[in-house]
Amino acid sequence: MLTHDQIRNFIPQPDCLIGKNILVTGAGDGIGRIAALTFAKYGATVLLLGRTASKLEEVYDEIEAAGGAQPAILPMNLESASHTEIQQLAILIEREVGHLDGLLHNAGVLGVLTPLEMYDPIIFEQVMKVNFNATFMLTQALFPLLKSAPTASVVFTSSSVGSQPRAFWGAYALSKLAVEGMSDIWTQETQKTTTLRFNCINPGGTRTAMRAKAYPDEDPKVLPTADEIMPAYLYLMGDDSLDMNGQSIDAQA
Ligand code: NDP
Repeated sequence: MLTHDQIRNFIPQPDCLIGKNILVTGAGDGIGRIAALTFAKYGATVLLLGRTASKLEEVYDEIEAAGGAQPAILPMNLESASHTEIQQLAILIEREVGHLDGLLHNAGVLGVLTPLEMYDPIIFEQVMKVNFNATFMLTQALFPLLKSAPTASVVFTSSSVGSQPRAFWGAYALSKLAVEGMSDIWTQETQKTTTLRFNCINPGGTRTAMRAKAYPDEDPKVLPTADEIMPAYLYLMGDDSLDMNGQSIDAQA
């Protein structure tokens, strides 16, 4: 197993994801968009899940134009998706690609930054649905497809507030704490009986729309782009990380 520093500086083989089917949530924008393009560049067949079909279509076109394996578009609003819709999605994926080698839970919403005392319960529920509930339901529904792969990798997206609760970060922080806990439980429940691995990644401050919303007075140019944090994502999705399970990785130092 590499050290966290080595993971951040990981240099992948150009064909490290060839033959792998990888689903990325929130693939239309921000880190998810770059992760989808990057996984395709390294050989994966990428399944693009997100709520804005036009953004997914743009990513699809970019992958095709770059000569990547033909991706799939899976439009889904994770805030409103029901258990039944998610089950149907799993059936569709099984029919189309048979198994899943990778699942990057990346879609997320920030909600509002405010004291819990004033936190709007409706926004609280929206954040928990996208960042946590849907993450659980998708993992559960896709579990048989992940088990069908020889060595599948599930990566949950956390945050620095996922390991350390922070005042005013409300539902976002609580959702990420819950995601870290869920990753741990999946690991414990599967490590003796499957070849699956579950890890969390904290991208760290990255130049995206969500970061700009959280830190409106920050100069985005001081932040790394999503492209710059991809080594850790590639490491976790590829077979170089077969011995890494139940860990939380920081994509930036
Ligand atoms: P962005 O806001 O740039 O992108 C979020 C993505 O999630 C978009 O593609 C968005 O779709 C999708 N999404 C949001 N809501 C839903 C929904 N209801 N259903 C389906 N898809 C949805 O965020 P980032 O790229 O910055 O963040 C990606 C992940 O990284 C998140 O989990 C975030 O918490 C985490 N993170 C980010 C950090 C940063 O500094 N950027 C730091 C720490 C963690 P659409 O484009 O259609 O809105």
